[in-house]
Amino acid sequence: MIDPFGRTISYLRVSVTDRCDFRCVYCMAEDMTFLPKAEILTLEELDRLCSAFVRLGVRKLRLTGGEPLVRKNIMHLVRSLSRHLESGVLDELTLTTNGSQLGKYAHELKRLGVRRINVSVDTLDAKKFTAITRWGKLDKVQEGLAAAKDAGLAIKINTVALKGVNDDEFDDLIAWCGREGFDLTFIEVMPMGDIGGEARLDQYLPLSLVRAQLAQRWTLDEIDYRTGGPARYMRVRETGGRLGFITPLTHNFCESCNRVRLTCTGTLYMCLGQDDAADLRAPLRASASDAPLEGAIHEAIARKPKGHDFIIDRRHTGPAVARHMSVTGG
Ligand code: SAM
Repeated sequence: MIDPFGRTISYLRVSVTDRCDFRCVYCMAEDMTFLPKAEILTLEELDRLCSAFVRLGVRKLRLTGGEPLVRKNIMHLVRSLSRHLESGVLDELTLTTNGSQLGKYAHELKRLGVRRINVSVDTLDAKKFTAITRWGKLDKVQEGLAAAKDAGLAIKINTVALKGVNDDEFDDLIAWCGREGFDLTFIEVMPMGDIGGEARLDQYLPLSLVRAQLAQRWTLDEIDYRTGGPARYMRVRETGGRLGFITPLTHNFCESCNRVRLTCTGTLYMCLGQDDAADLRAPLRASASDAPLEGAIHEAIARKPKGHDFIIDRRHTGPAVARHMSVTGG
């Protein structure tokens, strides 16, 4: 699949549920209304959709959400998708998780062929963790991380940089990840979904600033490690760990975008920061043949936009897109 700008689309991110056991302040409102069950694709339908993408050239699948590991019977889907790893048509099956259920699932994930996972941790302070996630408990996530490490999963920690919230902890996070053998990526907060008032402007911290500050304390060596994603990585000489920066606001990376995003209702978003989308549920349900579905996927890829234009400043405090990150998956 090649889009109008010559980019090969080889990466599908799938939000398997919009539900989550956390309510992170920058991600969701506390009183989120979730989708009725009837609208949500069954695990069999998700498998059929993912498999169509794999047939059309997707080499990497990431399950996300909401929280992917709170979807009932999620391991059925992982198990069934792992056949594409075994046959060699898929290079990687991975997931992004808040870590709360890893204690239960880490070993099984590893057995099914998952090699690395991203775990979101914004703070190492238990009180602050509950303040940010509203419902989360840091010790449960720490248990999950220990299980994942024990299972032999490679772990990357994702930390959203939040002004006045966790910006005093970046050094601790770097040192912790160095000790644990985790990669670490800082992410700029993106204007997605209404979270009330001018909260975004208050939270937004440009990573160009963070990087300059970190460079005073740590020796950051340029490396050309790439995971096919938007992060630019450096090696922290003092810890030996990798440190990445995802900068959708200060540096737009759309020229190398290789991905599209599927929601749990079968809507395909061709860009995280644009509203245009394609309904794949209708062609999926309309026919037992995959031909109409594949046609709809090709049509959607032909409309993939050049990029997003996220802006957060005093004149742009509202969301760039109305949907929350939990709809399309981070
Ligand atoms: N529940 C899983 C998790 O916690 O990783 C997967 C879904 S979550 C939406 C994926 C990632 O998106 C998390 O790292 C989260 O911190 C990030 N995220 C959510 N809203 C965001 C926003 N407005 N800007 C930047 N990152 C955001």
